[in-house]
Amino acid sequence: MGLARMSPFFMLDYNSKVDFPGTDNPRGVGVHPHRGFETVTIAYHGKVAHHDSAGNSGVIGEGEVQWMTAASGILHKEYHEKEYAKKGGLFQMVQLWVNLPAKDKMSKPKYQGITKDQMGIYNIPNNGGVVEVIAGEFNGVKGPAYTFTPLHMYNVRIKKGATLTFNLPENFNTGILVVDGKAKVNNEVADVDHFVLFKNDGETITLEALEDSILLVLSGEPINEPIAPYGPFVMNTKQELIQAYEDFNTGKFGHLED
Ligand code: MN
Repeated sequence: MGLARMSPFFMLDYNSKVDFPGTDNPRGVGVHPHRGFETVTIAYHGKVAHHDSAGNSGVIGEGEVQWMTAASGILHKEYHEKEYAKKGGLFQMVQLWVNLPAKDKMSKPKYQGITKDQMGIYNIPNNGGVVEVIAGEFNGVKGPAYTFTPLHMYNVRIKKGATLTFNLPENFNTGILVVDGKAKVNNEVADVDHFVLFKNDGETITLEALEDSILLVLSGEPINEPIAPYGPFVMNTKQELIQAYEDFNTGKFGHLED
């Protein structure tokens, strides 16, 4: 899949469901930089803690979302939350990298911790479950996340036997990750941990849950700009990448304790 195929979504890092044993050394990633985009972490099971050099920190657990705008640059670390790590248990998360348009790449870093009660809720008719709107809009229900470009992000928590039909703009790039269960997506069976990519032909999407399912719907207007990615940076040009490394190496991303 090309770098721009799901633009503005640049990367999807998916931890399918695992059961971790308890440990006194929480798993995670130590201090590292980002510039030029946003990391969006969606927790389905388990808890993660975040700390960054802009002074933001937070813990997200089941059903919650952390929307971290690296923009001009932050250092952060991401670890399993201490108590959860100690006890162990199920873990399942998605981390998306959402690209920023050139005009916002060097804007101020930002952090949005989104709790379950902040989500927009659309009730699927006939007690068919709910659509949790994280960002954008679903049938008039808005999500809480601030976004730099138009995009929709929903968790469709749909019950076995229920159906749901909706439309997304033709020019948006759209995909669905099956986080739990099994569903028919426009009459094709999509199993757990599979990703369905749509063709940009004015998609009407019909879901039919074959089991109780959680479907993560991602849809966004492409950012039609060159993409220069390297390691933890997503810029527009090679020159900007060199600058990012230079700024990182000279301490311009701030400071964060390990
Ligand atoms: Mn990171």
